[in-house]
Amino acid sequence: SDAFLSVRDLRVQFSTEDGIVKAVDGLSFDVERGKTLGIVGESGSGKSVTNLTILGLHSTQTTSIDGEIVLDGKELITAGEKEMEKIRGNKAAMIFQDPLTALSPYYTVGRQIAEPYMKHTGASKKEARQRAIEMLAKVGIPQPQTRVDDYPHQFSGGMRQRAMIAMALVCDPDLLIADEPTTALDVTVQAQILDLLKDLQQEFGSAIIFITHDLGVISDMADDLLVMYSGRAVERGTVREVLRNPQHPYTWGLLSSMPRLGGDTAQALTPIPGSPPSLLNPPSGCPFHPRCTFTGEVTGNRCAEERPTLGVGRASACHLTAEQKQTIFIDKIQPR
Ligand code: SF4
Ligand code: MG
Repeated sequence: SDAFLSVRDLRVQFSTEDGIVKAVDGLSFDVERGKTLGIVGESGSGKSVTNLTILGLHSTQTTSIDGEIVLDGKELITAGEKEMEKIRGNKAAMIFQDPLTALSPYYTVGRQIAEPYMKHTGASKKEARQRAIEMLAKVGIPQPQTRVDDYPHQFSGGMRQRAMIAMALVCDPDLLIADEPTTALDVTVQAQILDLLKDLQQEFGSAIIFITHDLGVISDMADDLLVMYSGRAVERGTVREVLRNPQHPYTWGLLSSMPRLGGDTAQALTPIPGSPPSLLNPPSGCPFHPRCTFTGEVTGNRCAEERPTLGVGRASACHLTAEQKQTIFIDKIQPR
């Protein structure tokens, strides 16, 4: 395929005090250059673990990683730590939810943007400082030639987020992973940061993976969408296809628990009943079956017994027939 990043049958396991957790359990997806893949799911769905694994940032509790992660023709699971260091920050970079995970309080913002640039390009200190000022200007920090010498605590929350984006983009990475990058920000700053990401993508042509639990944000940011549940993808398609004509009961739940855009925010939301499944002891069959309202529509006990698979392309992993998915969505789910 011509995908810039290709993930195939990824499986990541952790050991915990209580046993082995399958954090990611057979996940496949592609991301093309210049495109944004949205990954949506509740916490514990495996979305963050997947992306940390792509960058080789596994926790010490990881016991096994299987499958394939191919970035620009290079297999990453088998790559050594030295190679991953070259890739991180240079070819692929991450924007975290909390800038303080990425920014150290002990160094100036400018130094923290300049350092990866020097490391990956061999630029001099002076060149790198100039580049840091340029990047701060690009992400909309006023008076960048002065602010470059500030420490992170001298920046507001929104400015720190911008500085982290500058740091992530300083080496012009081909893949940018944004993990809930605006969750901690107020709505106005959030909108500004999202616009900034879109502009920077236009300019740099990077592929973006945008991780969120917020379908409202994704409709505006992503081209393609992957819905994750219990370490697996349960639905895949273009953002338009998935949001306009969702095919999986879990996606229906996510959509109906979302405030309507432009609607009355006080409107009662319908949350998905129950809680995310235990990854220590995942449910049999379809992992969503304990929370699903539509198991009765499926013949026999199939939902509890047989794990539905996700096909290629536009697909949803559910035993309902295509016709049932369509009818149920139109009759019971679709917002009026
Ligand atoms: Fe619900 Fe069954 Fe479909 Fe799973 S396979 S989402 S339990 S109807
Ligand atoms: Mg997360």
